Amino acid sequence: MMNRVLVETTHKTYPVIIGEGAVQEISRVILDIPKAPTRLFVIADEAVYALHGEALRDALPSSLATDWHFVPAGESAKSFSVFEQCLTAMLEAALDRRSLVIAFGGGACGDLAGFCAASYMRGIPFIQVPTTILAHDSAVGGKTAINHPLGKNMIGAFHQPEAVVYDTAFLKSLSEKETRSGFAEVIKHALIADPSLLENIQQSVKSAEDIKGSFLEHCLQRGIEIKSAIVKEDEKETGVRAFLNFGHTYGHAVEALSGYGKTAHGEAVACGMIFALYASQFKNDLSFDTSSFAAWLKRAGYPVKAGTVFSFEDIYAVMTRDKKAYGGTVRFVLLNEVGKPYVTEMTKEELQHIDEHFRKESDTW
Ligand code: NAD
Ligand code: ZN
Repeated sequence: MMNRVLVETTHKTYPVIIGEGAVQEISRVILDIPKAPTRLFVIADEAVYALHGEALRDALPSSLATDWHFVPAGESAKSFSVFEQCLTAMLEAALDRRSLVIAFGGGACGDLAGFCAASYMRGIPFIQVPTTILAHDSAVGGKTAINHPLGKNMIGAFHQPEAVVYDTAFLKSLSEKETRSGFAEVIKHALIADPSLLENIQQSVKSAEDIKGSFLEHCLQRGIEIKSAIVKEDEKETGVRAFLNFGHTYGHAVEALSGYGKTAHGEAVACGMIFALYASQFKNDLSFDTSSFAAWLKRAGYPVKAGTVFSFEDIYAVMTRDKKAYGGTVRFVLLNEVGKPYVTEMTKEELQHIDEHFRKESDTW
């Protein structure tokens, strides 16, 4: 059975179709688009294509001419040169305003293809066919971007897809590291919006191997519902959408200091969530057993101590460089309780105090 979540934004409401075999629905989804597409242009992560390309190829409507364009696997697709190559191929294929771009891959390919669709002739429609767990987050909400040598995601646009077709069968080929990393964003969604989901997750996941099947599908659907409720309220990130950055301020610092790719994004976010939970206890008397939570993440294989190998000064330097920082203070998303996030500024002294506490407690996990 396929499930459907509707994402409502100011100008558009679109479906997320999620389930095992969801890709079989893509023809119907494409033919349902009100302004019938003239042709299709698939931008595919080449590694994903090698694993699952056949399934997508077979499911596309045979009535529409389709071009395929392959991009390097993962983050290296989000570069100016790959972006340019895509646009060149789109021009050569003579796409018009009603041609449809299909993004086939993880969050990286989705961000790139979405930005190509946003830029080509000032914006043409696109569909996301995400293939990672993390992409339950990135495929919904309309943020698209590539990287600049001076900063990740610095060049981009808001551009909502026409639909998201999320076939959970594709997730079975993910490595354990990618599974764990993507699932951190599900844990994030639970912490900022759904205490009972958090409880369910903590009971169900004893190791990364438990992240699968109908349990995973349920978690992804809830994650998408939570994300889409936030996006509905704040499409352009002027308010509550910032809650989605929970765990990301410290997490981004760990990710950057480790060297991108070494500690996966979600692994770093897991560290960042522990930090933000200790900070919430300190600033706000959050009643939560952060040390047991950290110990549980560790058992599930998260590298929870990845931040402790760097000095506080180094971490602080990266956090203040973050685009979300103002002055010497750092903007943080904290919790009043599980499911009740808020944004606050943290001073250097406060952060240093929490960092010391974090390091001390980390001996007990
Ligand atoms: P990714 O797209 O880089 O993919 C990670 C790796 O997994 C790649 O090597 C890829 O080839 C491989 N892969 C993808 N699907 C696979 C599958 N089914 N089986 C086996 N291997 C597979 O990583 P990601 O974690 O999906 O996405 C990270 C990106 O998402 C970052 O660039 C981040 O900035 C972006 N992001 C965007 C948003 C947003 O709102 N737009 C939100 C969060 C993250
Ligand atoms: Zn993230």
